Amino acid sequence: MSVEPENRHHPRLEGKVIIVTGAGSGIGKATTELFQQHGATVIAADLTGADHRADAGNEEDIVRLVSMAREQHGALHGFFANAGISGGLASIFEQTVEDWQEILRVNLIGPFLAIKHAAPVIKEQGAGSIICTASVAGLRSGAGGPAYSASKAGVISLVKTAAQQLAGSNVRVNAICPGLIETGMTEFVYERARAKGQEDRLGHLNPLRRGGVPREIAQAALFLASDESSYVNGHALVVDGGLSSSHPFNRQDYGRTAI
Ligand code: NAD
Repeated sequence: MSVEPENRHHPRLEGKVIIVTGAGSGIGKATTELFQQHGATVIAADLTGADHRADAGNEEDIVRLVSMAREQHGALHGFFANAGISGGLASIFEQTVEDWQEILRVNLIGPFLAIKHAAPVIKEQGAGSIICTASVAGLRSGAGGPAYSASKAGVISLVKTAAQQLAGSNVRVNAICPGLIETGMTEFVYERARAKGQEDRLGHLNPLRRGGVPREIAQAALFLASDESSYVNGHALVVDGGLSSSHPFNRQDYGRTAI
């Protein structure tokens, strides 16, 4: 199986200026590279490891990134609000109000600020796309800690409301819900499995029976950022190998399914 894209066709983001947060690692880094390969000018922002230092949950930093796009590149066509923190797998009874405030600040207020400040500037170009990274953790429990899951459910709700409140603007707002992807955030899961010799169990609950790689989320972001998704709006696109397509069930109850 190859997850490498076919890039022989035309660049899909030629001439577009797009801000990416969380661009220093994992999904944001892979998406920055793919967007650039497709002709975009990317303003890559992160706390560390990217060209521009910015805190995705800080309003002044987001305003500065949007101004930079306009002043240095003359336009803004897209925003990938992707920065996120997990906060670990502590339970409701272990997490503090401070834990919740910080996780919601980065994961949910971050996308809110991106939409609030980028949408009016994108609208000036006539059309554009805002993409927020949610998670399968926002669909149901069991894929992250309580504050993380609530923050990602909030992102799914936010893109739907934003799409409506941007009616008539030609600015589309969508979310991506990744499943298990090997990045800095999930490094401990992968390391633990490898240390136990159980790497083959990673992602084994989904029908593709493997974890994903950042490039596979970048490909979904590329579609949503490009004009190819011109009629996709207010949607949460699940990219999880099929993990969330089922309730937990006992395969033995379903007869022979292997082919
Ligand atoms: P990652 O840790 O590799 O990358 C996240 C990046 O965000 C890091 O570079 C980090 O420095 C940056 N960041 C954190 N807080 C920030 C802030 N306040 N301002 C700016 N940058 C900040 O992890 P990743 O998996 O690539 O995470 C990207 C997004 O994908 C996150 O929103 C995460 O919740 C989401 N996600 C990841 C998975 C997965 O399995 N890896 C699954 C579902 C959703």
